[in-house]
Amino acid sequence: MNFDLTDEQDQLRDAVRALGRRYGHSYFVSKAKAGEHTTELWHEAGRLGYLGVNIPTEYGGGGGGITELALVCEELAAAGCPLLLLVVSPAIAATVINKHGTEEQRKRHLPGLADGSQKIVFAITEPDAGSNFHRLGTVARRDGDDWLLSGRKVYISGVDEADHVLVVARTEDASSGKLKPALFIVPTDAPGLEKSKLDMEILSPENQFLLYLDDVRLPADALVGESLDAGLPALFAGLNPERITVAAMGAGTGRYAIEKASDYTTTRKVWGGRPIGSHQGVAHPLAHAAVQVELARLMIHKAATLYDAGRDLEAGVAGNMAKYAAGEAAALAVDTAVQALGGAGMTTEYGVATLLGAVRAGRIAPVSREMILNFVAQHVLGQDKSY
Ligand SMILES: Cc1cc2nc3c(=O)[nH]c(=O)nc-3n(C[C@H](O)[C@H](O)[C@H](O)COP(=O)(O)OP(=O)(O)OC[C@H]3O[C@@H](n4cnc5c(N)ncnc54)[C@H](O)[C@@H]3O)c2cc1C
Repeated sequence: MNFDLTDEQDQLRDAVRALGRRYGHSYFVSKAKAGEHTTELWHEAGRLGYLGVNIPTEYGGGGGGITELALVCEELAAAGCPLLLLVVSPAIAATVINKHGTEEQRKRHLPGLADGSQKIVFAITEPDAGSNFHRLGTVARRDGDDWLLSGRKVYISGVDEADHVLVVARTEDASSGKLKPALFIVPTDAPGLEKSKLDMEILSPENQFLLYLDDVRLPADALVGESLDAGLPALFAGLNPERITVAAMGAGTGRYAIEKASDYTTTRKVWGGRPIGSHQGVAHPLAHAAVQVELARLMIHKAATLYDAGRDLEAGVAGNMAKYAAGEAAALAVDTAVQALGGAGMTTEYGVATLLGAVRAGRIAPVSREMILNFVAQHVLGQDKSY
């Protein structure tokens, strides 16, 4: 058992922390309030190699794994910059294309994802399917060598910033008549693809969209992989990296909130000369939240280590547990920090309540706490499937 990072991972963590602190939460918030994106931070992170840490060196990446990408996600969030598109583009899209794309797709997309010049977002959720992706209604039909895609997607993050969107559709398997998932790399400016921005109560520079696909015509090589058989494994390939990196983002956000609150409660004095943190009613909730965040970090470390060792099934269990734990811990930490700061906790200046929407959403997306509990009940505890 080893709880230590390697020297290289330690250096990566320190360097990303320094970058995040140079931008900081006020940068993140000001971009969100102005309706702008964190473009400068994204490009700098790309230039420094942090967006491609998990991409093989032959495609311009750092040759590391999800452990390294999780460090990047956690440290940027701990600096007050929780970037959801790190989860979507390098974690999901790059993994799917690297593991299941064709060589041509790897060459076309991975270098741009690694240096940050390209973003690929991910669209699976649909208005009428939600948590139940077996009900996906987006359909891919053959038309000669081309594909035609039709359907609707909802809550798709970052479509306005991305060159492509990785769309999960279903297609009819002619031999069996069964419906199979298939993934397509769709240019965001493809004719027939319309987006409409959703009004979300989350203070973030990253936006969510409704997507309408109306006979979007795609060439044969937009399909991820050599054949339709790549669809299911490609879809599953993205899940563990998604859960682990989103958990890391949650843990980083929790750390950020607890640090803010601890700084405040050691200096704020309203009862004589003692800081408010000397009252256990203030300190204990913060200490409790710190324990929860630290437990989540342990599980993230375990899940990432299992994943990078190729132990996908065990990583699936650990990744789900890590996501659950980090989602709960982040929400608890931010709420507790707001309380510890009193009125200051609700101000933009102190930068804690600005995260309430994001951590609340972290208990719903990308997989809800209930669906994780279903997974654990079924696959760990051996209970019957209840739905
Ligand atoms: C900020 C944000 C960003 C997102 N970004 C993306 C993105 O980039 N790409 C993308 O594809 N999707 C994205 N999503 C969508 C997200 O993955 C879904 O919201 C999530 O999977 C839940 O689906 P739903 O909202 O349709 O909820 P529903 O499926 O309608 O569920 C509603 C509630 O019922 C519960 N529930 C449902 N079924 C069960 C059951 N069997 N047992 C117990 N409880 C159940 C759920 O846990 C939830 O609490 C994003 C969502 C948010 C909020």
